[in-house]
Amino acid sequence: MITGWWNPPGLVGLLAACLTLPGVAAEVGEPTRFQYTEVHMGLQTRVVLYASDERTARSAAAAAFRRISELDEVMSDYRASSELMRLCDRAGAGPVRVSADLMCVLSRAQQLAERSDGAFDVTCGPVVALWRRARREHRLPDAATLSSARPLVGWRNLVLDRTRREVELKLLGMRLDLGGIAKGYACDAALAVLRRQGAARTMVEMGGDMALGDAPPGRSGWEIEMPAAGNPPARLRLRNCAVSTSGDTEQYVELGGLRYSHIVDPRTGLGLTSRIAVTVIAPSGDLSDGLSTAVSVLGEEAGRALASRYRGVRVFVRYAEGAR
Ligand code: ADP
Ligand code: MG
Repeated sequence: MITGWWNPPGLVGLLAACLTLPGVAAEVGEPTRFQYTEVHMGLQTRVVLYASDERTARSAAAAAFRRISELDEVMSDYRASSELMRLCDRAGAGPVRVSADLMCVLSRAQQLAERSDGAFDVTCGPVVALWRRARREHRLPDAATLSSARPLVGWRNLVLDRTRREVELKLLGMRLDLGGIAKGYACDAALAVLRRQGAARTMVEMGGDMALGDAPPGRSGWEIEMPAAGNPPARLRLRNCAVSTSGDTEQYVELGGLRYSHIVDPRTGLGLTSRIAVTVIAPSGDLSDGLSTAVSVLGEEAGRALASRYRGVRVFVRYAEGAR
């Protein structure tokens, strides 16, 4: 358990600190605040929206959750039957036609891979799998296994043909892992559904990722707590943007006095040990999610340089006490 540097109990704690402030008094015609939660992608998923009545609110939230389930079927790396896993099964066997969603999320992932010079890399699947096993078995991945997995990691071997909507994994044994971008993408997609349903004053939250729509009635934004190193958290009022946090507070393995994060450095194949936690505000969820992972890998200086190449992005970096 860490103390001091990051007060809320873990990642979810931080994001649960997203205060939506009580609904405006239910005067006639005034929208009321509704909140729904379901478990998706293994996470408590929360939808908050303002609507004139419960029926409208419930059906809008149900449509948003359906969209998230649909995306889970596409992007999950836990379900062997997901579109992503079926694509991985064809690694080394030529191009495969994919859904519009898979093409879209992979295109965004590849753009970030290129800009981050491979710090963000969804082809890290084989190495991530070894670190998952390390967490389960509580021992470091064996050096030989790690070095045979590393050549399978490399975003340049993931080739997209957007016109034909085809994807090719060039090497047999390559595995994609969308864990660093899928939740942000799903929050955005759910938010878009809510908007189409007429609920523009809405937010969607999944673990360390959230997408925010228009502000709640009578407010300038959704009140979000940003943890600040050594300072009390800053409260920001945000709207029409996405916020994501990456860190090692929840998923890590501690071995030999080091804490290895579930985020790996694709250049070394090792779980991060820098004890960095990064929150990113961005115009879209895939970007906030992906960038928070990329900045974690790059560290504060190079991470900020990367983020400065995007419009409307703000980055908050903390290191665990004594980590630097
Ligand atoms: P969280 O899942 O806690 O929100 P992140 O958004 O940072 O955290 O995503 C971390 C996940 O992304 C890992 O669990 C793994 O599935 C995947 N991943 C790990 N390292 C990388 C990387 N360098 N580039 C892209 N994805 C990564
Ligand atoms: Mg992320």
